[in-house]
Amino acid sequence: MPGLMATPPGQGEEEGASGLVEMGAHWIHGPSPGNPIFRLATSSCLLGLEAAREENQRVEAGEGTVLLNKAVRTIRWRGSFREEGDEARDFPVRVECEDGDAFLADHVIVTVPLGFLKEHHQDFFQPPLPEWKVEAIRRLGFGTNNKIFLEFEQPFWEPQQQFLEVVWEDESALEDPSTDLEANWFKKLIGFVVLQPPEQHGHVLCGFIAGKESEYMETLTDAEVLSTMTRVLRMLTGNPCLPAPKSVLRSRWHSAPYTRGSYSYVAVGSSGKDIDVLAQPLPEDPEDPRPLQLLFAGEATHRTFYSPTHGALLSGWREAERLNQLFEATGPALRL
Ligand SMILES: Cc1cc2nc3c(=O)[nH]c(=O)nc-3n(C[C@H](O)[C@H](O)[C@H](O)COP(=O)(O)OP(=O)(O)OC[C@H]3O[C@@H](n4cnc5c(N)ncnc54)[C@H](O)[C@@H]3O)c2cc1C
Repeated sequence: MPGLMATPPGQGEEEGASGLVEMGAHWIHGPSPGNPIFRLATSSCLLGLEAAREENQRVEAGEGTVLLNKAVRTIRWRGSFREEGDEARDFPVRVECEDGDAFLADHVIVTVPLGFLKEHHQDFFQPPLPEWKVEAIRRLGFGTNNKIFLEFEQPFWEPQQQFLEVVWEDESALEDPSTDLEANWFKKLIGFVVLQPPEQHGHVLCGFIAGKESEYMETLTDAEVLSTMTRVLRMLTGNPCLPAPKSVLRSRWHSAPYTRGSYSYVAVGSSGKDIDVLAQPLPEDPEDPRPLQLLFAGEATHRTFYSPTHGALLSGWREAERLNQLFEATGPALRL
């Protein structure tokens, strides 16, 4: 087997092709008809290998909608831009990409992660966002959760086992965890999911680690992570001769420049109100003749379901509906 590989964006696993793993969202939290991700997944028969097929990964956008699959450098708003040969049209928003391409738009739904916004809001938006929105961006938290995949020649767990839980003897929920990250980072591991079925994945465990310890893990080499994981598993199983994993693959969401973490949380000092503020479209003045230039979606903008994917989906629907209502009132070709 060639070892583990992350599934490239837009491509899933092929049936029978082992070695591909998902670096991000793992579960549908609250799998019930009330969860729109669950509804979408079941109605499209996506809760199995079908999910990986290329035709099931397509996204359809309505007429007049551009789904940008490029890195964006700057979003200019409150403007009035003219393109050569298109003199008749004014556009309030201009999206400038890293590769030099630019797109003009009436409305842009911004879905970049809060971690990216925290780092780049000042240069990403021109003119910069109003201070009340920046404050909400600063106050809300954006944490890190990473996966560590370990591939084994042979399983050392029972075939029916789904999860290996890790409990440390000296742990107490009442004490602060040790601050010595170098010595103790691995103690933040909550356990390992056994990837099923082995015919598809091989013998692979997926460990989860969050917080500062997870960010510290990102600074280590693969060899260091592999050797620590081997030590941990030998300790947990009580078998000092347990064979080391044959390969390791981990996510590094905190170091990834376009995410800078994994998902949001309501940090100490912030509240649900900050989430609503983050979601508020701009310009803020309802009398402004160019309404809804910038709309904000993404998990961090959903007051109830921030963090998981269904919050992200619901927030996108919310902003699409906001535009629908604007179009109902004014017609889609809103040109002033
Ligand atoms: C390890 C891990 C496990 C998780 N497990 C679960 C789970 O089990 N269940 C669950 O429901 N959720 C889970 N989540 C959370 C889930 O991934 C998020 O809720 C979801 O991805 C949020 O979607 P989003 O659209 O808000 O942001 P994202 O999915 O982060 O999408 C934002 C996109 O913006 C892009 N971007 C950033 N900057 C730019 C730029 N300048 N130009 C262009 N594009 C840019 C990013 O590359 C990214 O593709 C997990 C996340 C992680 C990291």
